[in-house]
Amino acid sequence: MEINSKHPEKVETVLSIAGSDPSGGAGIQADLKTFVSIGVYGAAAITCLTAQNTRGVSAYLPVDPYFVRKQVELVLQDLFVTHIKIGMTGTEEIIKVIGDLLADFKGEVICDPVIRASDGHALLEKESVVCLCDHIINRATVLTPNLAELRIITGKACTDPNEAVQAGIALFDRFKGLRAVVIKGGHLEEETETVTDHLLAREGESGNIITKTASHKRVRTENTHGTGCTFASAFAAFHMLKGEYEQAFLNAVNFVDRLVNKSASLKFGTGCGPLAHHL
Ligand code: PLP
Repeated sequence: MEINSKHPEKVETVLSIAGSDPSGGAGIQADLKTFVSIGVYGAAAITCLTAQNTRGVSAYLPVDPYFVRKQVELVLQDLFVTHIKIGMTGTEEIIKVIGDLLADFKGEVICDPVIRASDGHALLEKESVVCLCDHIINRATVLTPNLAELRIITGKACTDPNEAVQAGIALFDRFKGLRAVVIKGGHLEEETETVTDHLLAREGESGNIITKTASHKRVRTENTHGTGCTFASAFAAFHMLKGEYEQAFLNAVNFVDRLVNKSASLKFGTGCGPLAHHL
């Protein structure tokens, strides 16, 4: 490839602001693997260190909020960040620092509202969810909650898909900057053999909320650690490549579904395995 040093091409970047998972399945590690597999450049600022393996999260250590700010500021001052993906934040102080930094950011903000790991370990205290809403979700353009997160954020029971979609639609009134909400259907109607994910998106001119669905076969496997992080990162990466929400949604659903299928029969440890991004 010929390199034009007079007019080098700007490399659009997605910045993940999230926690570190040393077992490589979730958090920053999953995000960067996802960006590489999809073919976009990823940067990463760490909010918390976690100690965990496939058997679950044992503990987490928040990074000094001053240092979270420093990491993000230096990346934003220099690289061509068009998308920010936010995962585990850990504490209210860190949430406020991130919120502050987002106030001046003009690109897409994809928020995966990480509250609790699937093993039940809290990754953000429930009392801090209000702070997450006020400082980060309020400045997000895309929100990707799973059912449990949607229930906590909306206070609604969301016992069936219709209720979940109604709760999702109500989020657009509460958070004015939201353009799209993806409700991941893995924990909806768990007895059925099909999983249906929902995209709710605000239409440009009218502001009407349109809904789209994507269905795929349910894979019964324990190897789902980090699927939430992977989905939100895939959505950010595909949005960077395609420039619109519906295509990003369909591509991200397909990407995660293929990964879950590839990973289902692999053994990484003795607990709930991650996705095999390397395959
Ligand atoms: N660890 C980190 C750093 C995370 O960000 C997350 C989820 O977002 C988890 C652990 C939990 O992952 P899971 O619930 O998929 O096991």
